[in-house]
Amino acid sequence: METRLPSHDWPVLERGWVWLCGAGPGDPGLLTLHALNALRQADVVIYDALVQEAILDWAPQADHIYAGKRGGKPSAIQRDISLRLVDLARAGKRVLRLKGGDPFVFGRGGEEAQTLVQHGIPIRIIPGISAGIGGLAYAGIPVTHRDVNQSVTFVTGHDQSGNATSSLDWAAIAKGSQVIVIYMGMKHIGQISASLIAAGRSTSEPVAVVTSATTDQQNVLETTLGTVEADIAKAGVEPPSIICIGQAVRMRDVLNWQAQAAGIAPTNLDPLGRGRPAETA
Ligand code: SAH
Repeated sequence: METRLPSHDWPVLERGWVWLCGAGPGDPGLLTLHALNALRQADVVIYDALVQEAILDWAPQADHIYAGKRGGKPSAIQRDISLRLVDLARAGKRVLRLKGGDPFVFGRGGEEAQTLVQHGIPIRIIPGISAGIGGLAYAGIPVTHRDVNQSVTFVTGHDQSGNATSSLDWAAIAKGSQVIVIYMGMKHIGQISASLIAAGRSTSEPVAVVTSATTDQQNVLETTLGTVEADIAKAGVEPPSIICIGQAVRMRDVLNWQAQAAGIAPTNLDPLGRGRPAETA
């Protein structure tokens, strides 16, 4: 089991501390070394639904506590999780709070950290690879590409109460965001795509729905803005998924490295039609 960390002045997880740590999108290899260092030292690991079990195996000495939220009243349960972290720290435990992706990207890590600080608990934050970046990379989609976009917008598909995100100005996003990456977007994708089309985005704009990215179950549905809702229903795609809207999706034709590793040739070496080698300016 022992996978030794390279020699470095690794921080020590002291008793009474909570480290809030990103576990990446799924593939255990996408953990950071700081995360591995934390797993090695924790007395308790409190983990979310999207954290892969294989990662917990790397902390065999620790208690593993599941803190996933399913149904119920998310805000009340969130409060329970935050206060549980406080209690464990006060009991002198070395606490590792492990969250999918990056703890500060749509993961309520900010709220948990704030509660801890308000209760006088010392914390450390360990960033992780967010699904909206790493998950897309595993699908062969670069979130930025010089020929496509100089900006990228990460949005959540629903708000705290589970409704479509009413505080978002979808028309402004449609106009200002060359590439849009949606977390938790499945439920309201019909509404979201309609808003973007109403604000001028093309129905034929490429869309990728990347499900269980970076895991063995990874699946990529390629579709268009006009057909995404119907295609998700038709394919029976289940969350979690990242939805990427924009021309960056076309880069999959050349960058689907997983397919290539499985012996499938790229379908188009120049999907953006630059007509010149990629290395030329
Ligand atoms: N903190 C996380 C996001 C938490 S919100 C991060 O930085 O990635 C949960 C949402 O993230 C899911 O509903 C889904 O939209 C997305 N997500 C997380 N892991 C994913 C995965 N492996 N594949 C696809 N989407 C994922």
